Amino acid sequence: MRFDTRLVHVGQEPAQGTGDVSPPLHLTSTYAHGAQVQPAYFYARGENPTREALERALAALEEVRFATVFPSGQAAGATALATLAGAGRAIVSDDVYGGTHALLTSFGLDVRVVDLADPTAVAEVFADPWADDALVWVETPTNPTLKVADVAEVSRRAHARGCVVLVDNTLAGPVFQQPLRWGADVTLYSTTKSVAGHLDVLGGALVHDRADLHELFVTHRTTTGSVPSPFDCFLVHRGLKTLSLRTVRQAATAEKLAAALRESPHVGEVRYPGLPDHPGHTLATRQMSGFGPVLGFRYRGDVAALLRRSRYFTDAVSFGGVRSLAQCPAATTHRSVPTDLRERLGITDDLVRLSVGIEDPADLLEDLMGALDPA
Ligand SMILES: *Cc1c(COP(=O)(O)O)cnc(C)c1O
Repeated sequence: MRFDTRLVHVGQEPAQGTGDVSPPLHLTSTYAHGAQVQPAYFYARGENPTREALERALAALEEVRFATVFPSGQAAGATALATLAGAGRAIVSDDVYGGTHALLTSFGLDVRVVDLADPTAVAEVFADPWADDALVWVETPTNPTLKVADVAEVSRRAHARGCVVLVDNTLAGPVFQQPLRWGADVTLYSTTKSVAGHLDVLGGALVHDRADLHELFVTHRTTTGSVPSPFDCFLVHRGLKTLSLRTVRQAATAEKLAAALRESPHVGEVRYPGLPDHPGHTLATRQMSGFGPVLGFRYRGDVAALLRRSRYFTDAVSFGGVRSLAQCPAATTHRSVPTDLRERLGITDDLVRLSVGIEDPADLLEDLMGALDPA
């Protein structure tokens, strides 16, 4: 079964007895099976069929056995850190999601922040025995600077040090990039973004093929009660079916907008891995089958005024959804990143991040070009 068919068929087998072609919403907290006999369905913090249908669908996307879903991407990250960072050390991409910095700090880990898109920096950090058994947390492409890390190379060096490699694949999504294929151990998704895709639900997932990790993740989730509601699982699963249609369109439009922005006199640098002169373009072409819905650019003008002038790019955080969004990362999503790191990464007040939606590309282009020009 090919990818786009799996999106619609796995975890969506017509229900036994009734024949529902859409996975039913199981709203129950407990199950009448005789709790003494340890039935497969015992209590909803541990088991729920709506949740399991979504998990089967997500695992099938990377052709692996396991997916564990959570109420948010952050909840998935918290379980990953609680179970995988036993050595107390973590190596992390320098431009990770803002919330990831906060999460690592809250776990009190000894963290090395590394530019994992730089092969020299990668070689250096893994040359040090300090790296032994550390958790390696890769985000690629990063946002808003869209840096691209070589998952195969990082995984190879990390595994030689006994590390577990987690890739936050939220930005590219499973249509364009499958980190497990390149040697990573675990893929993390904020399914809030392109997987659900409709800007109406939060969710997270850990996807992988290791029975030992599955046991750890599920036990931690059940113990801490970090379970998504059946209705949230239903919404994420509903969104998932159109993931391919949506994201292929979004990436195609993003590519057009990136090219047009580059020609504009009101715009400085444009960051999009699909642009041939992007520093990570060659690697991205090998590692990804498309370049995603997010791009960054530097505006030579008043960013707040630009955001106000745009009709279709709503000034809001998040990305990957059906509706186009624009925001200034330095003032919003990346406010909590330490100032010196933010400046080193180039996340300055002139940087605008766009998340391209599924609207008509001509409307988006017209709107953006009009908004750039204050006259
Ligand atoms: C949004 C996001 C998260 C956190 O996910 P939530 O669902 O908001 O908790 C983690 N990583 C990345 C890359 C994200 O964009």
